[in-house]
Amino acid sequence: MIFNKEIETMPREELEKLQLKRLKNTLRIIKNSNSLLKEKYKGIDVEDIKTLKDITKLPFTQKEELRKSYPFNHTAQENKNWMRMHMSSGTTGTPIINVMTKNDIEQWSEIMARCYYAAGVTSKDRVQITPSFGLFNGGFGFHYGAERIGAFIIPIGAGRSRLQLKFMEELETTALCAIASYPLRLMDVANEIGFDFKKTNLKTAILGAEVWSDEMRKRIENEMNIDTYDIIGMTETGGVGAGIDCEAKNGIHIWEDQYIAEIVNTKTGEPVEDGTEGELVLTTLTREGLPLIRYRTRDITKIISKDVCSCGRTHLRIDRLKGRTDDMLKVKGVNFYPSQIEAILLKYKNLTPYYNIVLEKINGKGNITIIAERKKVVTSDEFNKLNNELYDFLGFHCQIQIVPSGTIERPAGKAVRVIDKRLN
Ligand SMILES: [Zn+2]
Repeated sequence: MIFNKEIETMPREELEKLQLKRLKNTLRIIKNSNSLLKEKYKGIDVEDIKTLKDITKLPFTQKEELRKSYPFNHTAQENKNWMRMHMSSGTTGTPIINVMTKNDIEQWSEIMARCYYAAGVTSKDRVQITPSFGLFNGGFGFHYGAERIGAFIIPIGAGRSRLQLKFMEELETTALCAIASYPLRLMDVANEIGFDFKKTNLKTAILGAEVWSDEMRKRIENEMNIDTYDIIGMTETGGVGAGIDCEAKNGIHIWEDQYIAEIVNTKTGEPVEDGTEGELVLTTLTREGLPLIRYRTRDITKIISKDVCSCGRTHLRIDRLKGRTDDMLKVKGVNFYPSQIEAILLKYKNLTPYYNIVLEKINGKGNITIIAERKKVVTSDEFNKLNNELYDFLGFHCQIQIVPSGTIERPAGKAVRVIDKRLN
């Protein structure tokens, strides 16, 4: 299902023309604003941007610059155009505020409506929105999109998992919107109270805001008897909805009339070839409050294809996010992401989807302990197989602890998987 056929199936050549025009316009907005960010583009003449490739002449925008501009010094609009704000959910450091105009909210509704359609959610659906309605952008983003498509909205917000399940059944929810690890909590509670997802009308979940492996996805789909869609987007770029995967499940479409996506080498910042892994860099093309040129998202992914997808959309596809540059772990000279450990653990059906990766320093040397929860008895054969698989992946032996179900803490918000004790 396609929400905006003309745009979503626009031939690449036309799409790129539109991108170039909008890129220049975005640059103009910043240059003509009072934003501190405009200093960077002082020496750049908008007319020097002649092709899309010229984007590489423009400097990156880093998260740190937005932090330093707290609260509003990176905002490109005058007060009279401000409508509302959202704030990054970063747990450390100064938060980043995104001030939105009326047009920004409009843009957000449009991309979210497209995301719902890509997930097969329409006006016939009943949408239960479980991210919070507040400074975090999730709740409102899902709300605007659902309004745009004319779905019935159940704006329950975060927490109250028992009530979530009760409503899901009694109000006949068909689509669930959530932070990617939240279904695990719902599955837990369902188990406790003997709730059967098969007896509900739930058919789809749109999940994001966290990295979740393919194995986690399978686990959620099987246990909840649903189809899932992976949505991306962040406060800085205008909230959830910059892209989503479609029924082809072969990459996440990024709405290219709204964003330019580049993948660059994390160290050098040089663009990499399509298909090569690197950091996702996003340029906003229609945002007014916080227009961003070449924003370093810190998300690791790769371009899967710029060809037309089997769903009919022409907008490029990136791989599901593997991790964030800040999340990369380095132990005994080996670099890896928590999601890669997750992918190994979750292949074991007798383990719950909860785990911790504990980083320690023992005798001055880095070491890791992986704590996994058993759902049922883990046999010594299975344990040995897991041990070998982790060894094959890491190239060194790590400690593995299998603990009883319910031992690992279930935080209310985003999941906490890595515990770093190296600094203590
Ligand atoms: Zn597609």
